[in-house]
Amino acid sequence: AKTGCNYFCINVKTTICNDCEHIEKRTLNCCTRCSSSNVDHATRVIGYLKRVSAFSKGRREEHADRHYHRKARAIA
Ligand SMILES: [Zn+2]
Repeated sequence: AKTGCNYFCINVKTTICNDCEHIEKRTLNCCTRCSSSNVDHATRVIGYLKRVSAFSKGRREEHADRHYHRKARAIA
């Protein structure tokens, strides 16, 4: 907040085995199922702002349940 960033997320790189397609929710250098070292890593990508009014009906309902650090307030 002190640097002007009003949102952030925490990502953990997921490990995806290129040989057996096993997905592991940890960042590893080999597959826990087949022991292959032929693995890739995936991370959640989200980096844009969207108007809440442009959300779908279901998304707006889910948005109403979100908890924000602060409510909107008027600027005097
Ligand atoms: Zn594997």
